[in-house]
Amino acid sequence: MSATPGRVAVIGGGPAGLFAAERIRAAGHEVDLFERMGSVGRKFLMAGKGGLNLTHSEPKAAFVQRYREQATPVGEWLHDFDADDLRAWARGLDIETVIGSSGRVFPADFKAAPLMRGWVRRLRAQGVRFHVHHRWTALDSERRLQFETVSGHVSFAADAVVFALGGGSWAKLGSDGQWVDALRHVGVRVRDLEPSNCGFECDWSPQLRERFAGAPIKSVCARWQEVDGQWHTRQGEFVLTENGVEGSLIYALSAPLRDQFNRNGVAELRLDLFPSQTREQLRQRLGSPRRGETRSKQLARCLGLKDARLALVRDCANKATINDDDMLCQSVKSLAVPLLRTRPIDEAISTAGGVRLDALDNQLMCRQLPGVFFAGEMLDWEAPTGGYLLTACFASGARAAEGVVAWLQNTPYT
Ligand SMILES: Cc1cc2nc3c(=O)[nH]c(=O)nc-3n(C[C@H](O)[C@H](O)[C@H](O)COP(=O)(O)OP(=O)(O)OC[C@H]3O[C@@H](n4cnc5c(N)ncnc54)[C@H](O)[C@@H]3O)c2cc1C
Repeated sequence: MSATPGRVAVIGGGPAGLFAAERIRAAGHEVDLFERMGSVGRKFLMAGKGGLNLTHSEPKAAFVQRYREQATPVGEWLHDFDADDLRAWARGLDIETVIGSSGRVFPADFKAAPLMRGWVRRLRAQGVRFHVHHRWTALDSERRLQFETVSGHVSFAADAVVFALGGGSWAKLGSDGQWVDALRHVGVRVRDLEPSNCGFECDWSPQLRERFAGAPIKSVCARWQEVDGQWHTRQGEFVLTENGVEGSLIYALSAPLRDQFNRNGVAELRLDLFPSQTREQLRQRLGSPRRGETRSKQLARCLGLKDARLALVRDCANKATINDDDMLCQSVKSLAVPLLRTRPIDEAISTAGGVRLDALDNQLMCRQLPGVFFAGEMLDWEAPTGGYLLTACFASGARAAEGVVAWLQNTPYT
């Protein structure tokens, strides 16, 4: 390292910022970590409520493709720090990980708090200085930072800065996306934040809303078209909500569905409610109604189409279709569910958009602002749930840290 340690400000105490701080401190530099909330890692701890899906065990080639349009740059970060490295790192904090039946990787106790507690304790012991209740507000070209604190404004001059301010969802946990304007103000190119892994709104009938909000729709197959025109299918489940649809299958499709909205102003979810049966098999099972049997009773008896599933079909197909055997069997194999809009960004699991990667060099330093680096969800990439979000946050934190260390050594990198 250089003869004199550098003075580095890391802003944002989520996994990306904490990991960058750890790596920079390990290289011998002074690290001050600033966090606007009263404690760090609040979104990480919230992720723990769902078992903390740290990463995924699928092969690297498939893993990298989860980052869609940004598979190439994110793949470069993952080249240096991947899912196995993340598991090994957790082991260094005495947290063993397990692979679930879906290939997702979790801490063996499915908790985030022991990991976060051990991590912060270790960072403090290593000499990272924490400054909570420090909200970053401004930066100048000399890397002088301004913070709002409970006791007024504070300035900090840094040799290098890592911003890891998170996306724009679940603002109550700290990452409120307010940084977008402040960074644009100093010339950083930022793509508007949009919800990712989010629910969508539908124009439900009062009957569906009142009787079936909260009902799961299991084992269905969704079909959707990507920007390149290719059709894809995915089996899974989702939940009907008062306003629309949410849940793992919907989250997994949120990026292409949102892109459809952005392109065409409308989006449609196509559902096969009977993925294991052909239309002809359904037609045979439907048979004829018993004497005096209502259509609803016949559909329940012959196809098991009842309750929330039937309400969904009634909301999305017209009466003539439902009453005609052929048309019904065709419709339930490709039910068109019109989507009105995404749910608000604050409800989303993560955000798309952010600091444009083409505004940064490959060590995640802003070309406009030498010595200023970015990491984590605030960068312009997105991925489905499954551990891909946290993995890329750690990997980008590692990449930015490496860039900071090289920058402070004044060694040119490529
Ligand atoms: C409910 C939920 C469950 C999730 N579960 C999973 C999961 O199981 N697996 C997975 O991979 N991902 C999951 N995620 C997503 C994952 O938690 C995030 O992608 C990840 O935390 C982002 O890390 P980050 O460090 O980039 O940002 P964050 O974790 O959001 O941290 C950013 C930090 O910056 C601070 N900050 C913001 N602005 C300022 C400012 N102006 N000044 C100072 N500090 C500031 C914030 O307070 C925050 O502490 C989940 C998300 C949610 C909401």
